[in-house]
Amino acid sequence: MYSEKVMDHFANPRNVGEIENPDGVGEVGNPVCGDIMRMYLKIEDNRIVDVKFKTFGCGAAIASSSMATELVKGKTLEEAWEISNKAVAEALEGLPPIKMHCSVLAEEAIHTAINDYRVKQGLPPWEEKSPHHHEGGEGCELPDE
Ligand SMILES: [Zn+2]
Repeated sequence: MYSEKVMDHFANPRNVGEIENPDGVGEVGNPVCGDIMRMYLKIEDNRIVDVKFKTFGCGAAIASSSMATELVKGKTLEEAWEISNKAVAEALEGLPPIKMHCSVLAEEAIHTAINDYRVKQGLPPWEEKSPHHHEGGEGCELPDE
């Protein structure tokens, strides 16, 4: 039910770990299935120069976080802000509909980390354009393997 890309990022997640003295941290949780994702950003001249993540969750959540870190790395904050959960899912060559909410978590983690940085800089946080919907709120009861 998972694409090869998802399986690859699940088996070999990129950018796992922590950044010491990060410029922004985003921690988000998914009440539906209990996934927890923490994203660390290193930002220089408005650009994400390094990113690491730790995710406790299902395979789709881990693959989404891994892909999200690859997508935001090297991007400006404005560009990273525009990365939607759909873009993450597309980069993974699709997620099963029941697992789409796990990619929402990745988008939220990016947004929370960027706003953490902005607030620390004394800047107003950016507003979400659209509320995140955790569609397919069936949870992660499907087996991951
Ligand atoms: Zn999940």
